[in-house]
Amino acid sequence: MNPKLLFWVPAALRMGLILAGVGVLWFMFGATSALVVATLAMAVLVFVQLGYLYQLSDWLDDPQSAKLPDGWGAWTNIFSRLYKLRRDDEKNQAELTEWLARFRQAMHLLPDGVVIMDDVLFLEWCNPAAEQHLGLTHERDKGMRVTNLVRSPDFMDYIILGRYDQPLTLSFRERKLIVHIIPFENRRQILVTHDATETERIEEMRRDFIANASHELRTPLTVIVGFLEIAASEGLDPATRAAHLKLMTEQGHRMQHLIEDMLTLSRLESVDYPMRPERVDIVKLMGQVQRDARALSAGKHEITMDVSGPDVMGSTEELHSAFGNLASNAVRYTPAGGKIHLSWAEGPSGIKFKVEDTGIGISPEHISRLTERFYRVDKSRSRETQGTGLGLAIVKHVLLRHGGTLQIKSEAGKGSSFIVCLPKTAIVPKQPELQLG
Ligand code: ADP
Repeated sequence: MNPKLLFWVPAALRMGLILAGVGVLWFMFGATSALVVATLAMAVLVFVQLGYLYQLSDWLDDPQSAKLPDGWGAWTNIFSRLYKLRRDDEKNQAELTEWLARFRQAMHLLPDGVVIMDDVLFLEWCNPAAEQHLGLTHERDKGMRVTNLVRSPDFMDYIILGRYDQPLTLSFRERKLIVHIIPFENRRQILVTHDATETERIEEMRRDFIANASHELRTPLTVIVGFLEIAASEGLDPATRAAHLKLMTEQGHRMQHLIEDMLTLSRLESVDYPMRPERVDIVKLMGQVQRDARALSAGKHEITMDVSGPDVMGSTEELHSAFGNLASNAVRYTPAGGKIHLSWAEGPSGIKFKVEDTGIGISPEHISRLTERFYRVDKSRSRETQGTGLGLAIVKHVLLRHGGTLQIKSEAGKGSSFIVCLPKTAIVPKQPELQLG
């Protein structure tokens, strides 16, 4: 039924009943007594209404603790609607609080920084990522001007120019940040910061790699082209021609090695080339590594080997490449007459492949950089011995794929130890022995 009718019909009925009662009294006892009773009834009614008004005002002052009565007459409807309004309000409040908590949690987890500022750049709120990126502290810096907090001439210029349709790349507190400012509502702005330090580092590595690879390929190519030009000219005696051809072949091999190593590295880094672990026959693998090292040494070094550890699960091809690189480095950086020892043994922290040499050694300042691509301590020695500068980078990537680590101990002029440590989890479990009979 229409709520207005619900209000007016009972009120009219009650009024009609009172008037009828007064009419009956008038008829039975005369006008005076009817008026007295009517006045008394009106006074009672006024007091009841005042009582309800008082309780309503009490409730409005403190809706949480004061309680509303059920009410009488029209008040029943008013009070029940007020109750319903309060219940709806509480529900909305709870929903809003929950939503706000979820929003805050999302903002806390967001890797990008978010700063809410007013139209004149006074800080209102920021998330933890923004605190980290810009060195802000929400509690301390609230109400301060963001340009006074982020002290960078580039940031100032960006604000002054106001070209917010383009992002700003900002170098700030040893980070590379991509900064956006987005106006919202009427008088607020959001500043968003994205940390691009890692992306920038990878991009720089890629640029360096291309520059280094081009440089490495250009050197042998220049030699080959030079010789080809000489060979094209007339009057070259057969001995010189043969010497030139030999040098060109060497340079060709150098380019071939380089390209093979670059392809190996890119394959190791590729997600489309997952490792398929298999049982690696260590005795066979170590035998191959020793044979390759002896072939490279051509009898100039004493190469010994000791294999006592168990077989492991991994990629035979990749481990061959890693161990082979370490053994070939030992040969190439150890002067003739030196000693090289290869070993494979199980220790308390895992299984260790060790290559020890009595070679030229490495000064401490180089050790942490040896696994960088194209990093060489002695460029000319590396090139003379067909080095590509990628061997240890390949070792690093193979070990990453096998959960292993590389430890380098070296002293200039005395020799080096390269130790590969593979986790115990890589060990092939022993087969239970068959009980015969
Ligand atoms: P390269 O092809 O130049 O040998 P690597 O990545 O294998 O490249 O090695 C990087 C550098 O580390 C080498 O250029 C060399 O200076 C140094 N190095 C590697 N192994 C040894 C070693 N056993 N003794 C001395 N120096 C070494």
